[in-house]
Amino acid sequence: MQKGRVVILGAGESGVGAAMLAQKEGFDVFVSDFGAIAERYKQSLLDMNITFEEKQHTAAAILNATEVIKSPGIPDTAPIIVALKKRAIPVISEIEFAKRYTSAKTICITGSNGKTTTTMLTYHILKKAGLNVGLAGNIGHSFAAQVATASFDWYVLEISSFMLDDMHEFRADIAVLLNITPDHLDRYDYKMSNYAASKLRITQNQTANDSFIYCADDEETIKILKGAKVNATTYPFSIRKRIDRGAYLEGNNIHININQIDQLTMSITELALQGKHNIYNSMASGIISKVLDIRNQTIRESMGDIKNIEHRLEHVAKISGVDYINDSKATNVNSTWYALESVSAQVILILGGVDKGNDYDMLKDLVKKKVKAIVCLGKDNKRIHEAFEDDVDIIVNTFSANEAVQVSYHLAKKGDTVLLSPACASFDLFKNYEDRGNQFKMAVKEL
Ligand code: ADP
Repeated sequence: MQKGRVVILGAGESGVGAAMLAQKEGFDVFVSDFGAIAERYKQSLLDMNITFEEKQHTAAAILNATEVIKSPGIPDTAPIIVALKKRAIPVISEIEFAKRYTSAKTICITGSNGKTTTTMLTYHILKKAGLNVGLAGNIGHSFAAQVATASFDWYVLEISSFMLDDMHEFRADIAVLLNITPDHLDRYDYKMSNYAASKLRITQNQTANDSFIYCADDEETIKILKGAKVNATTYPFSIRKRIDRGAYLEGNNIHININQIDQLTMSITELALQGKHNIYNSMASGIISKVLDIRNQTIRESMGDIKNIEHRLEHVAKISGVDYINDSKATNVNSTWYALESVSAQVILILGGVDKGNDYDMLKDLVKKKVKAIVCLGKDNKRIHEAFEDDVDIIVNTFSANEAVQVSYHLAKKGDTVLLSPACASFDLFKNYEDRGNQFKMAVKEL
């Protein structure tokens, strides 16, 4: 007998993975995507004999679901979601669904910036320590597909606020909240408090046996924690003050104390991932590793030998004494701040794209100090000109990665750094941030 009807909205990586798991678990499965489905996902659905539709949502085939799994990209205001909620049909995320069918423990990492880096670093350490660990969430292969086909003891999951919004019973064994800075506010009624509340859902259902790791220097996190009840054992991290249980920076040394007996001290000069933001990310990964009782030597080695992560402060080349850095993943102002902060040379900054309502004020001090010229790379660069016209002498418009690189090449002198860290989304001129980063790298290599 079939268990019920599961409808999956959105046939991307998470949707197709959820369909695979739902079918394996004996549900009647239907997949619906309002847009066109990518060829490889269509093929997977056909191979699995799963019925699907694209470029439409047929209400009659969706509103008879017992439960709906929705892609994180679909907002709650989409008419089909409104119709489902009106009928009180439960709408959940792929992560919530998949967790029901695995006893693996989960490490869940969220935050406005640094999720991918911290997730990859944590996965790298755990793997090196010999744990049977999988990597999923917003990254790599779908969690549900892995639950259907693999048997990991642990998962490191990169979790976005959109996923958290549709997670209800889910409980993270170890939860990490890296920071909360304005992003995606269009999905939260333009209220920071709504976005912060969504991020704090990472702690929901946790008990004292679970761990919650957060940044004690992050204003919004501290603000939301004040009014919240967190049941997990907490481990804050800070680069500004000493922390008794958690991690902190003293001079050049990171100290991690999970208990008073076994501590880890490591110099930031040993970290393969450089920059202030990566001190935070490394502290978070370090605490996770100590909670899991991984040996200090393994943690040190792993933090020292992790490879640079593509499109995140990725060093591309040094040409005529000028360094070229690809930080295409910096799609908001906060991440560009950290990128600029990490460069010690004078900078030609490539900025721009789709501005999600950016407030450029926080960049001004660093721009005045370090930026010689701004090369705008976007269809509409008016807001960048307005924000920086008093701070930088040269602001130039360009409309392709190639043009931006050529112009930067002419503006840069020996010892300077050309930094692509756009503070904006990429959809005006590129497919996505990877496409922007790849085109930038290609143009640099052709210099
Ligand atoms: P996410 O997955 O949350 O988008 P990434 O690890 O992909 O984060 O990093 C995105 C960008 O944010 C990078 O380009 C980097 O410059 C910046 N960044 C990384 N970690 C942090 C952090 N802890 N705080 C602020 N900015 C960060």
